[in-house]
This record gives sequence, structure tokens and C-alpha cells, in this order.
Amino acid sequence: MTQVIEIHPDNSLGCQEPKLIQERGQREVFCGLTGIIWLHRKIQDAFFLVVGSRTCAHLIQSAAGVMIFAEPRFGTAIIDERDLAGLADCNEELDKIVGELLERRPDIKLLFLVGSCPSEVIKLDLSRAALRLSHQFSPNVRVLNYSGSGIETTFTQGEDACLASMVPTLPKHTTAQKQLLIVGTLADVVEDQFRALFSKMGLEHIEFFPPRKSTQLPQVGPNTLFLLAQPFLADTAKALEDLGAQHLPAPFPLGAMGTRAWFKQAAKAFGVPNDVFEAAIEAPQKRAIQALSKHRAELKDKKIFFFPDSQLEIPLARFLHHELGMQLCEVGTPYLHRRHLQLELDQLPANTRIVEGQDVDEQLDRCRASNPDLVVCGLGLANPLEAEGYTTKWAIELVFTPIQGFEQAGDLAGLFSRPLIRRLKLVA
Ligand code: SF4
Repeated sequence: MTQVIEIHPDNSLGCQEPKLIQERGQREVFCGLTGIIWLHRKIQDAFFLVVGSRTCAHLIQSAAGVMIFAEPRFGTAIIDERDLAGLADCNEELDKIVGELLERRPDIKLLFLVGSCPSEVIKLDLSRAALRLSHQFSPNVRVLNYSGSGIETTFTQGEDACLASMVPTLPKHTTAQKQLLIVGTLADVVEDQFRALFSKMGLEHIEFFPPRKSTQLPQVGPNTLFLLAQPFLADTAKALEDLGAQHLPAPFPLGAMGTRAWFKQAAKAFGVPNDVFEAAIEAPQKRAIQALSKHRAELKDKKIFFFPDSQLEIPLARFLHHELGMQLCEVGTPYLHRRHLQLELDQLPANTRIVEGQDVDEQLDRCRASNPDLVVCGLGLANPLEAEGYTTKWAIELVFTPIQGFEQAGDLAGLFSRPLIRRLKLVA
């Protein structure tokens, strides 16, 4: 059976620094518009209006292709190429589209204007447009803006940009009561489990950001301690710190170890007695360990190679190595926030090759040379690698699937063991 190993914030396991390489070559990563796919499901009264081209519309339609809604919560205002003289028309057109949308959809309380490559290229100032429209539709609708442009953002940075744009609108927390804020989009089912576990530890003043309703924004102030639930929220964390909130450094809640360590940091910060903490997590932790043991047999000693995509790569590598016995060939990540990831980096085996950024051809060569059993990558690389005989896992699934917490640990392991089992069946 899998053992729970404590994650030691003081690095007392004695791992050497992992090997960090930076690459600045050609990238194969989604743009930040992709985040709309999970954000629109989370904030139920928000609408995401992409100001972009037909390419942008196709991207989010195909990424969300499996979902059919009677009332979709995202759309694209198509802007064609035009010269600077055409900018005034562009603003007029945008105002008209927003006016029609809000008239048709009184359920929308928060509208995001999401910038894209074309809006950047023609220098359409979406922050001014958001101010203008917010003023016009106040107090029924708040209009915010952020960029999901592929020039500025990759994949999960879209969520960071979205949440950071909301931070200045959060109400102030002014009382002396310490409160815990969980930051990062989690599936509702995971959020409910986390709230129940915190409650068992006696912690009741818990808020989640983003909230399910834009009218239920959490308060933030100097007595707010926040835990990141996702490793890609650098700008959001910085904006919260600017309001006086304090970040609680913790590993991320992936796998039994990560989830235990994540809860433990909160318990310590709020003075929860150790026996209360252990009693609260005992049953779910046991279920997680049992669920993982089934997958360990499939994954132990298998080699895995991560291309940079979701920024979840480092916590996932720690989970797969420590709890499932996988060998790490290379761990690529689009960006590495040293402070937020330090407790994760401390747990990786010495000399793990960590690559920040990408030079895709070089990385493909290294991937082939290391001959991994499983490759985690974006959709663009998965098909060619499968054609070469490699088994792949689409990184995007790791963002769309609920994977955090004790109850999801087995499902998370299954996302890695299933492709290997499928490949074995095909070969047999
Ligand atoms: Fe493509 Fe840029 Fe639109 Fe993303 S924002 S779909 S990278 S044009």
C-alpha cells in the first residue's frame, strides 16, 4: 500500500536543488482564451465576450465543443482588420453588441471583455471600454476586462488574468477576525469537500475565489490568509498581497501527500490542534491511499516526460514520483514561480530536469532520446507523438477534470494509468 510521506516545508528530506533550464524558442501552447471554458462554468452569472477574430471563436468553440448550453455564457465579438481610423467604429460596434447582449440576458451580472491578439494588434483599449460600459450599465452589471491573447498569455494564464482583474473589485475585510481564502477555480464538488473538511477542523470562516456568483465576492484585507489551489496564479496572488492579504506557502492539493500538506499549512496557521487535524482527514486520506495503490502497480517505474502546458506540471511530477513511483525524464513548464512552487521543487528528486519555457524541436529530440512510457503534452504534439508510437496524455484534461483533494486522488492517478493500459491492450 502507498505510504503517506509528509511534505517538509524545511526541505529536511535533503533533496538537492533540481536542475533548472530556461528555453526561449518556439512554443506549442494554447492561448489564455482557453481558461474561459472552465471559468464560465464556475462563475454562473458571468459572461465572457471575446473581442477577437474568427480564429478565436473557433478555438473556444472547439475547446468547448462537447458542451451544449441553452444559454451559453461566452461568445465572440468578431473584429476585422482595420486601420487606426476605424477604431471609433470598433468601439461603437462593441458598445452595440454589449447593449444587445445585456438586454437579451438580464441574468448576466458580470461581463468580461476578453482581449485577444487582433484586439491588441489594432490597439483597441478594452480597459477604457470596460470602464465606459460599467458606468453605462451600473449597478446591474459590472464590466471588467483582461487579456487572453496568445501574444501575452498561455493557457492557464487566462485564469490568472481573469481573477487578477476581479481583485480590485473585492470588498474590504476590516474586522480583526482571521479568515481563510482559497484562491483558484475548483470544481464545485471539490469546493464542497474542502469546505466540509475545514469545518471538521473547526474552521468556518472560509471563502473561495472565484465565487460561484459574482454577487458573492469574498472580502479581503490584512487579516486574510490565502492558500493557492492552483499553481498558475502569480498575478492574482500579487494583487491580493497588494490589498494586505498574506499568502500561506503550501504544496498543491494533488494526491494524498499534497492534499494533506495543503490542509496542514492552513491548520497550522489557524492553530488547529494536531489531533483535530488528524481526525478530520483520517478517513478521506485512507480512501485516497487505497485508491492510489490500485494505480501504483501500473505506473511504478514507468518513465514520464512533461511538455510545458498547464503549469500544473511540477506538482503533478511530485505526485507521480512520490505516490506512484514514476520516473521523471523531464518536467517542462511554461513559467515557474519560484516562491509559489518552492515546496514542490524541494520534493523533486535531485537532478530532475526542469525546463521553463520551450524550444519545441529541441524538446522533441530530448523526449525521443529519453524514450518515455508516457508523454504529457498539448493537443498539437499528441497526434504526431502517438503516430511515432508514444503514449500520450492531453494536458488540457488535467485542467478540465476535478483532480484536487483526497477523494479525487484515484481519478487523478487514473488519468495517467488509463492511457498506458489502453496502449498495452492495443499491443497485445
Ligand atoms: Fe489565436 Fe490569438 Fe485568438 Fe488565441 S487570442 S485564438 S492565439 S488569435
